[in-house]
Amino acid sequence: MSAPAVQAAPIWDSLVGQRHVIETLDRAARGDGMTHAWLFTGPPGSGRSNAALAFAAALQCTRAGCGECHSCRTVMGGTHADVTAVRTDALVIAVKDVRDLVRRAALSPNGARWQVIVIEDADRLNDHGFNALLKAIEEPNARTVWLLCAPTSEDVLVTIRSRCRSVTLTTPTAAQVTEFLVRNDQVPETIAAHAARASQGHIGRARALARDEGTRNRRNEVVHWPAKLISLGSCMNAAANLIEVAKHETDAQTAAIELREKAELDRSYGVEGRGKRPREYAPALKELEAGQKRRAKRRLLDVIDRALMDLVSVYRDAIATGVGATTALVNEEIRADIAQLVRRSTPEAHLRRIEAIFTAREQMLEHNVGPQMALESMMVALRLEGERR
Ligand SMILES: [Zn+2]
Repeated sequence: MSAPAVQAAPIWDSLVGQRHVIETLDRAARGDGMTHAWLFTGPPGSGRSNAALAFAAALQCTRAGCGECHSCRTVMGGTHADVTAVRTDALVIAVKDVRDLVRRAALSPNGARWQVIVIEDADRLNDHGFNALLKAIEEPNARTVWLLCAPTSEDVLVTIRSRCRSVTLTTPTAAQVTEFLVRNDQVPETIAAHAARASQGHIGRARALARDEGTRNRRNEVVHWPAKLISLGSCMNAAANLIEVAKHETDAQTAAIELREKAELDRSYGVEGRGKRPREYAPALKELEAGQKRRAKRRLLDVIDRALMDLVSVYRDAIATGVGATTALVNEEIRADIAQLVRRSTPEAHLRRIEAIFTAREQMLEHNVGPQMALESMMVALRLEGERR
């Protein structure tokens, strides 16, 4: 006989469309099926790091994740003494940072429960990082729990993966995301439905689209390009425009943080105004600036990447319409543009355009090709061939 179903704790409310994951984690937090290493996988935006953080809260909470107590609130706010969450904007997590985590994992928790270490981008560990981690996961401390997050289990070294219990999140449906935005963020239904469709199951993106008109406008501009890419000039313009918009968005995100980091550095070296600078200041400043530059680059690529996925969604809609599918389009509101793409080109050609987008993405993310060069040749490949308007 199985035990009667228990209502899952409130801490799981922010996970959208992840019923199986919630059941597993809720049970573990109550002591059924608990283990010391977990691997959270799922597509971008499905909420794997949110799930890991909610689990960390549930583990620290005496009521398995009430969402209200001091433990729950400090874990979710990132200030709980026994929860260390590592997120990075760098392409690779430094080995020295991993060693710090391993040292931390060897300590007993301050409180009565667990020492929880969350690595949000475990796919950004390299082999050295994984090896530094391996021993800690092989011979765990009794009160330590590792929560690793990665897009897929293949992103994590097999010897680590095999020691973790796996939790797989799935892409929530548009209906689930809409319902969440209305219920949780009090967004009007029509805006929520648009954001849910346009985000294609990426919760963070859906929330940004639902809450911020600027984000909606930028996306709107991007999805209108495919029907306009007719002349070589329009392709060059679109490439330049995309870079400009992405830079604008990246700067808005980073400017305040960079200023604060510089002020903190100055304070820690006792540097005020034009005063004398200690000898160690210059190299420290150089390191800070190099880190900021890496992070800005990463953010820029993330923003560009999102725009590329928006473009892909337009061509997917054109293919679906072209082959006579009757399902709802991701870009329902630009049906006229989609119809034009269907008239002026073929599903096969649209498929090649999607390939060109993925090629540009690979060039930028994996081969370090500059955005301008990669995007210009991509836009030219997206151009509508044949007759003029
Ligand atoms: Zn609680």
